[in-house]
Amino acid sequence: MSAPSMFPTTVVGSLPRPEWLLEGISAFEEGSMTGAQLKEYYDEAVVLAIKQQELAGLDEVSDGEQRRFSFLAFVAERIPSFKLVPTAELMTRDAERYARSMNLHVGVISNPIIVGKIERTAPLVADEVRFAMERTQKPVMAPLIGPLTLLINSWNSRLSSGYYRAPEDAFGDLTRLLREEILALRDAGASFVQLDEPAVGNFVDFRYTKWLLALNGWKLGDLGELHRVASELVNRTVKGVTGIKVGVHICRGNWRSDELHYSHGGYEKMIGEILEMKVKRLVLEYATKRAGTYRVFKDNPWHGEIGLGVIDVKDPRVEAPREIVRRVEEASKVFGAENIVLNPDCGFASGRPWPVVTRQIAYAKLAAQTEAAKLLRKKYA
Ligand SMILES: [Zn+2]
Repeated sequence: MSAPSMFPTTVVGSLPRPEWLLEGISAFEEGSMTGAQLKEYYDEAVVLAIKQQELAGLDEVSDGEQRRFSFLAFVAERIPSFKLVPTAELMTRDAERYARSMNLHVGVISNPIIVGKIERTAPLVADEVRFAMERTQKPVMAPLIGPLTLLINSWNSRLSSGYYRAPEDAFGDLTRLLREEILALRDAGASFVQLDEPAVGNFVDFRYTKWLLALNGWKLGDLGELHRVASELVNRTVKGVTGIKVGVHICRGNWRSDELHYSHGGYEKMIGEILEMKVKRLVLEYATKRAGTYRVFKDNPWHGEIGLGVIDVKDPRVEAPREIVRRVEEASKVFGAENIVLNPDCGFASGRPWPVVTRQIAYAKLAAQTEAAKLLRKKYA
């Protein structure tokens, strides 16, 4: 089944896990459930997530990232070159200070730390996508961690320098790992690969990045360097890749907090890096007012597709379809209606322990997005 030619609808990836899945995971961790039983729970949760996306009328679906601890940490669940380390174990005095300033609940965060030479000894997500594809006629997109976000979370001076003396020494192996995964996703038949790069979104406000760098023992002088390498890492990752559409998703992170503690600011602070990225689609937050206006792209045109964030995933209020239509119409003047794909600002539960809204609200929002797309097609197609 192919997507409609105008205003196709999709997701950014994650969806809240059902309560029974979370209970199953706890039971497995406590030893009262076997790995085989837990796998059945995961399989059922993916089937349910797909069915609910179909009922919400989406043109393209994901597996809801049901099997992942988080959009980032899952790397360590699949590849032994990385080890999942609770950030509480990495804390330094500076990191404590930054975490406090953002009201960050570090107790629930674990990062995949590099503890060996990076090699793709197993699939990262291609097997997930293959499972999902066998259970739906709809195209299946694949969210995959982006190279900058993975690097700044995973290279730790204490634990990784024996394998890569400095972060830049890991560039080659890390981008090769992601490129090999993209090619496996292409071969599996995924419709779209989305590189998740909240680290680029955090260029609007370096508090979160400073926390991460303090945690991992990077020099703070490295902040300016991150701007320089953001597009370089993405371009090295997609170099030579053909036969599959690849995009970059930029947001400012997605955990439960109040608006005051999220970063604010438009894409002006990273527009140069964004325009250098050799990808087909940008998936951007735009429903939240914190993401600024479209003006920056009026002055600096992007000549590709736009995955336009039309749903505020952190606001429990379900948007009215007409409100979404207005957002798209305004964006069309800058990006061109033919380039717009409708999606929420981010995933609805980018980490297992921190869904931002309930499952019911998430699916109601996706259904509103579908209604908006229908109204738009009626008007413009
Ligand atoms: Zn996001």
